[in-house]
Amino acid sequence: MQEPIHMVDLVKQYQHIQKEIDEAILNVVRSSRYIKGPQVDAFEDELAQYLDVKHVISCANGTDALQIALMAIGLKPGDEVIIPSFTYVATAEVIGLLQFVPVMIDVDKDTFNVTGELIEAAITDKTRAIVPVHLFGQSAPMDEVMAVARKHDLFVVEDNAQAIGATYHSDSGKSAKTGTIGDIGCTSFFPSKNLGCFGDGGALFTNDDVLAAKIRMIANHGQSRQYYHDLLGVNSRLDAIQAAVLRIKLKHLDHYCGMRARAADSYDDMFYDHRHIITPYRVDYSTHVFHQYTLQVPPADRDSLREHLAALDIPSMIYYPVPLYKQKAYTPYWEAGKELENTETLCASVISIPVHTEMNKKLLDYIGEGVLSYFG
Ligand SMILES: *Cc1c(COP(=O)(O)O)cnc(C)c1O
Repeated sequence: MQEPIHMVDLVKQYQHIQKEIDEAILNVVRSSRYIKGPQVDAFEDELAQYLDVKHVISCANGTDALQIALMAIGLKPGDEVIIPSFTYVATAEVIGLLQFVPVMIDVDKDTFNVTGELIEAAITDKTRAIVPVHLFGQSAPMDEVMAVARKHDLFVVEDNAQAIGATYHSDSGKSAKTGTIGDIGCTSFFPSKNLGCFGDGGALFTNDDVLAAKIRMIANHGQSRQYYHDLLGVNSRLDAIQAAVLRIKLKHLDHYCGMRARAADSYDDMFYDHRHIITPYRVDYSTHVFHQYTLQVPPADRDSLREHLAALDIPSMIYYPVPLYKQKAYTPYWEAGKELENTETLCASVISIPVHTEMNKKLLDYIGEGVLSYFG
């Protein structure tokens, strides 16, 4: 009997750094500085340095980060925010909660991300912002996104929850970490993300001093100093224990992303040129940190492939089975019957297989052969 296979192996990952992590957590416990404090300040500084961005403001989770970003850019009810229809719900949810209108657009069928052209086609006189999502660990084409945003005077809030550590290469010759290119970048430290803590956590990044000050206030009850509330805010904080864990894991982030990419390379080799399997597309303008390794297979085979894998004790996931605009909560924002071609195709054909930081050749071969054996 082999060891159980997981989509991510957080136990093994922890074991490599157990001593350091245990000590850091105990130090926080002994300090009694549980909320904010020196661990959180140090983590924000270290992440800012890693990303080469001026400001990092931590918060309670990635969804809050998106909400705080959209509160900080000063939109009004009814303003439209363009988002991909093939993404996690958080992106759309916060837009609706703030009484803005999520305008869901199709994505490129190869990259799974938005394009400048698709954004441009959705712009109206109410459009105020774009939230590109760097899906599965690879950057959206930010040169195109920023060009459209500049042309129409729109804010860009990057949803970087799946791509922390990825590098975007601009046509200008400059490179930058994803999440530092638009006005604000948002990320999540949910345990299974590429940089995950031991609970919930999130952060916003920006190079804009004014936005940074506003974000800090909003995340802390809108206060400029204690008990003086200038803005409508929220209570969204990163715990010191999470910051202590993240400070240690941040030192390993490049290694973690490298291990995921190595696993992906190995899968790519195994599935190379297969008549029924499309491997993840690699763009030349971004590194890929493989938050997910997502294949496309014929829709008629997808669910039976999942069952075949399950019988071999290989887990798989469907990210995402339903286009956002077909989710019950989002139909009010949608014209009944309208469908977006690539989103529909992807929801019917994608399947994500395990990719994480603790995979050896034997495990990769077992999973790869498991997929191949379905097709005979
Ligand atoms: C995980 C994720 C979020 C939300 O992060 P939480 O910390 O779970 O709130 C938002 N957007 C995307 C694309 C995500 O993958």
